[in-house]
Amino acid sequence: MSALGALALAAIAVAGCGGDGDGDASAAAAVPRAKVDRFDGRAAYRLVRMQVELGPRPAGSPASRELAKRLRRLLPDGRFERVPGGLRNVVGVVRGRQPGRRVVVGAHYDTKDIPGFVGAVDGGSGTAVVTQLARTIRPRELGPTVVFILFDGEESPAGTPDGQFARRGLRGSKVAAPRYSDAEAMVLLDFVGERGLRLPRESYSHPALWEKLRGAARAVGVGRVFPAEEYGTGIQDDHLPFIERGVPSIDLIDFDFPCWHRACDDLGRISVRSLDASGEAVYELLRRL
Ligand SMILES: [Zn+2]
Repeated sequence: MSALGALALAAIAVAGCGGDGDGDASAAAAVPRAKVDRFDGRAAYRLVRMQVELGPRPAGSPASRELAKRLRRLLPDGRFERVPGGLRNVVGVVRGRQPGRRVVVGAHYDTKDIPGFVGAVDGGSGTAVVTQLARTIRPRELGPTVVFILFDGEESPAGTPDGQFARRGLRGSKVAAPRYSDAEAMVLLDFVGERGLRLPRESYSHPALWEKLRGAARAVGVGRVFPAEEYGTGIQDDHLPFIERGVPSIDLIDFDFPCWHRACDDLGRISVRSLDASGEAVYELLRRL
């Protein structure tokens, strides 16, 4: 994600965090344990670790291409979708009971091109939860078909000014959105693995669909992660090309994150409980669509 609005949000992140959350028991305890166990948070954690162990994964790099190959094997019916510049989305499908209906669940798998930046939260966490959802959810639990898309090239190339993010970033989602413009909903997972996870509604996110997600979260016991609050500004992210096509879209992003595009976005920031809470909530949402 980035960046317009990120300047304002950076102020929130600094003012609102008040601590690094790392090893902070009270922050970790703030994320409740889910009442159901359909989604395997530990498996999602292992998927974050697998990505981080590949090192920095900027779009088009050998590490990113290796990751894409692994993700394609992990997704049901996994395949590549070409993106200009030699990039590729990784797409998987779980078919629901009602032909003609479909929804998109996505995350970006590239990391910002900063030396030493491994993107455990920013890139890694969303990719892990989406991949684990795709491996878990059963066709008979779904009305609509779910298309799982791991976007390449969300981050803009190194050195791009913040003001040009929307034009030069979001590369994979710009390719995908026209192909899935008939989708009934788009659910984007971005920063979903941080300790002490807290997800106010991002301002571009569709209010009614967000309320549905909050209802699903309450039903599985993780409602506290989704407070009745809204960020003061929208965040430019892979949901925007879908919104521009008229697809109701939401973005799960805890932008109260002091390690945004910093080397400290490493495995130590990640909480199994947070990955699990977001996975369980989205799983229940998908069952309700
Ligand atoms: Zn980023």
